Amino acid sequence: MIRDPKSVAARCGRLAGDLARRLGAHKVVDDPDLLAELAKDESHAAPRMPDLAVRADSADDVRAVLELAAAHEVPVVARGGGTGKSGGAIPVDGGIVLDLRRMNRIAEIDRENLVAVAEPGVITGALQAAVEAEGLFYPPDPNSLETCTLGGNAAHNAGGPRAFKYGVTREYVLGARVALMGGRAIRTGKRTVKGVAGYDLTALLVGSEGTLGVFTELTLRLVRKPAEIATLLVRMPDEIAAGWAVARIVAAGLVPRVIEFMDAIAVETLRAAGAGGVPANTGALLLVEVDGPDAAGVERDASRLAEIAEAAGAIEVLMARHGGEREQLWAARRTLSDAIKKRARFKVAEDVAVPRAQAPGLLEGLRAIAERRRVLVPSYGHAGDGNYHVNVLWDDEGFDVEPVLAEIFALALALGGTITGEHGVGLTKRAYLGMEVSAESLALQKELKRVFDPKGLMNPGKIFL
Ligand SMILES: Cc1cc2nc3c(=O)[nH]c(=O)nc-3n(C[C@H](O)[C@H](O)[C@H](O)COP(=O)(O)OP(=O)(O)OC[C@H]3O[C@@H](n4cnc5c(N)ncnc54)[C@H](O)[C@@H]3O)c2cc1C
Repeated sequence: MIRDPKSVAARCGRLAGDLARRLGAHKVVDDPDLLAELAKDESHAAPRMPDLAVRADSADDVRAVLELAAAHEVPVVARGGGTGKSGGAIPVDGGIVLDLRRMNRIAEIDRENLVAVAEPGVITGALQAAVEAEGLFYPPDPNSLETCTLGGNAAHNAGGPRAFKYGVTREYVLGARVALMGGRAIRTGKRTVKGVAGYDLTALLVGSEGTLGVFTELTLRLVRKPAEIATLLVRMPDEIAAGWAVARIVAAGLVPRVIEFMDAIAVETLRAAGAGGVPANTGALLLVEVDGPDAAGVERDASRLAEIAEAAGAIEVLMARHGGEREQLWAARRTLSDAIKKRARFKVAEDVAVPRAQAPGLLEGLRAIAERRRVLVPSYGHAGDGNYHVNVLWDDEGFDVEPVLAEIFALALALGGTITGEHGVGLTKRAYLGMEVSAESLALQKELKRVFDPKGLMNPGKIFL
C-alpha cells in the first residue's frame, strides 16, 4: 500500500505535539538537516525523508511512539546504525523514524550462564569488546560491526565471516522484549539453552526486518572466548580454483571459523586503495582463520588446511605472524565495500548464497554474466557459507541493471541457493522474492504480518511488493 505523502505529513504534524508532550520535545526531531541523515542507508535505494524522528531513550519511549503512531495512523521505521544494504531503514511512506542509538546500555553480562542482556542500540563491536574483557565471546561479526547495532543485526539476522563455524545472529538470540504497533509489549524466548514453550516467536521476529515489531531488549547467548587463532592468506590462481579449494576444505571436515574470499578485481581494488598486507599477483585470495582452545590443535588444523589449499592449486599460503598482521588484514577486508564503490559511478551490491560445493558453478556463472553483459562484477564474501557479495559496477547513466540482477538471482537459485544470504529483502529485493518463495508461502507471510500489524504501519513497503 502506498500512502499519500501529504496526508502522512499532515498526520505527523498533529502527532508531533502529542509526542513532545509525552516524551519531551528534545526527543522529537523535525529539523530537515537531521532528518536527511535518517533518509538513507548503505543500499543503492533512493533516500526518502521521514516527516519526524524520535530519539528513544527507553522501552517506554518506544511503546509511547508506537501507541501514538497507531492512534494517528502514521508509519514507523525502527533504525539502528543505518548500515543496512537492502533499504530496510528507509521510510518509504514517510512518517516517523525511531532512532534507537541512544538505547545503548549493556544491562548484564552473566559469566556463569554465558548470557548477555543488552538494549538494541548497542554497537555490535562494543558488545564484543565488553564480553571479551570477561573472557567470553559473542561470535556474530558483520563487517560493519563498528557501526551497526544489535537491534539491526537481530532484525536482519545478520551473518558475518565467523558464521561458518559459529552460525548467524539467530543462533545467539535467546529471547527479546519487543514493542508492537499500538504500544503492546511482549517478552519472547528464554534465558535457558533449551526451551520449547509455545511457538518460537523469537525465531520469527529475528530476521523480520523490523516489519513486525521493535526489539527493545535482547537476551544473547555467549560462548567462551577461543584462546588461539591462526590466520592464513591463501593466494589462488583464479576464482574458480578458489571455489574448489573451499569445497575441498569443507569436504575434508575442517571447520575454520572464517573462510573469506576475494576475486582478482577485489584484491586489486584493495591494493590500489593502499591496503596493507594484501599480496600482489593474485588471481583470488582466501582469508582463512582457525581457532580453538589449544595452540597445538590450531596449528594442526592450519597445516592440514594449507595442505588442502596447496593440493587445490594454491600459489602460496602465508601465515599472519602476529595479531598486528591479522588486524591489518581485517581492517583491509572491512574497507572493501567502500573501495569497490569508488571504482565506478554506479554500484549495486547483492549477496546471494549457494550450497558451499556449488561455489565454483556460481563463480563461473558470474564470470559469464559479466562478459555477456559487459559490466564489471567483482565478488567477495563469506565463502565458507557459500555467501558471496556480488557487485555490479557501471558508469553509463542509461544502463538498466535490473536484468543483470535477475540473471544473478536466477543463477544462485538454479544452484540450489538463495537471493539473499544476510542483507535481507528490504526494498531492493522485493521484486525478486517471488523467484525464490512460493505464492502460497508469500500469502501466509503476509497474513502473519497482518496479525502483528493490521494497519501495515510497521516499516511499510518492505519485504513484500
Ligand atoms: C561495510 C559493511 C559491511 C557489512 N557487512 C555485513 C556482514 O558481514 N554481514 C551482514 O549480515 N551484514 C553486513 N552488512 C549489512 C548491515 O550492517 C547489517 O544488515 C546490520 O545488521 C544492520 O544493522 P543496523 O543497526 O545498521 O540496522 P539498520 O540499517 O539501521 O536497520 C536495518 C533493518 O533493521 C530494522 N531495525 C533496526 N533496529 C531495529 C530494532 N531495534 N527492532 C526492529 N527492527 C530494527 C530496520 O527497520 C531495518 O529494517 C554490512 C554493511 C556494511 C555497510
